[in-house]
This record gives sequence, C-alpha cells and structure tokens, in this order.
Amino acid sequence: MNKNKLNTTLPDEIKEMVIDTEESTDTITWKDGRRIVELFSLAKALNNCQNCTAQLNLLNVEKEKMQGFGSYLAIRCLNCNMLNNILTNKTHYGTKGPAIFDINTKAAIGMIEAGIGPRQLNKFVTALGIPGATAKTLKKREREIQKPLSEIAKTSCVNAIQEEIEKTR
Ligand SMILES: [Zn+2]
Repeated sequence: MNKNKLNTTLPDEIKEMVIDTEESTDTITWKDGRRIVELFSLAKALNNCQNCTAQLNLLNVEKEKMQGFGSYLAIRCLNCNMLNNILTNKTHYGTKGPAIFDINTKAAIGMIEAGIGPRQLNKFVTALGIPGATAKTLKKREREIQKPLSEIAKTSCVNAIQEEIEKTR
C-alpha cells in the first residue's frame, strides 16, 4: 500500500490530527486524540487550586496550549472561579529561555536512538492519535542534547583508544 492510499483511508478526525512538521496544532482541542502525560505530575497539579486549594476537575479544562508533546491546561476552579494553568509533564530549564518540557528532550533522544527524524517521529505519533511536534521544536531539543552527546562520544572514543593501547601493550 502506498503512502497516499493509506492517508486517504484514514478517518477524517485522524487525518486532521496528522500534523505536518510546520503546521500548527491550534485547531485541536484538548478533547481530541491522545497525549503523553506524566500521570503523577498531572494528579498532583489537579489536587490543589493555586488560589483556594480545592481539587480541580480535568473536565473543566477551558484551553490547552501544546508545546511539542507537553501541554499547558487552563482549568477553571469551580470553588473560587480562578483559571489555573497546569502542566501535563515535568519541565527543566536550558541555558536560556522558558521552561522546556522533559518529554520534548526525550523525544529528541528517542529520534537519535531510533535513527529517525522529526518527519518519521511525527508519522508514528500521529498514527497513535497524538498530535505531532513541529520540526522546529524537535530540532531545538536535538541541539540541546547535541553537546552532551558529543561529550559522551568523546569519552567513549577516549575509552576505546585506551582499551586498544592496553591490549597492544
Ligand atoms: Zn479555587
């Protein structure tokens, strides 16, 4: 089966989720498809309203902002009416810029380990009903891990050379 044929046989709601590398995910609502979620992070965030400490209900999500494979969810507290901004995944900080979802860095590591690029990764995840990440996001995260990877490569090269020297002594 060729690629186009497969694509035309997909149901419309899935086709809409097949995000090409530079397309935006603005048309997808939080009720569509699947997400990669750290359950414990989400459970903890839902446990307390940031204003009145009442428990939040996931059904009260009013807006989702996706950042690669992580999401910011705006959830209304029914007790005090405050709109809480909660995260579906843990974050970390790079040398500059805003918080980075760990999952996006992990996706870049996964791409390298599987020997695939953003296009293949997005084809795989969108087949699962998970909205893809933009090539830009994935490339940025690739650059984030490039330095540590080259350091690992250097170390393992040095180790291999040292082993070689040991053997030929
Ligand atoms: Zn509240």
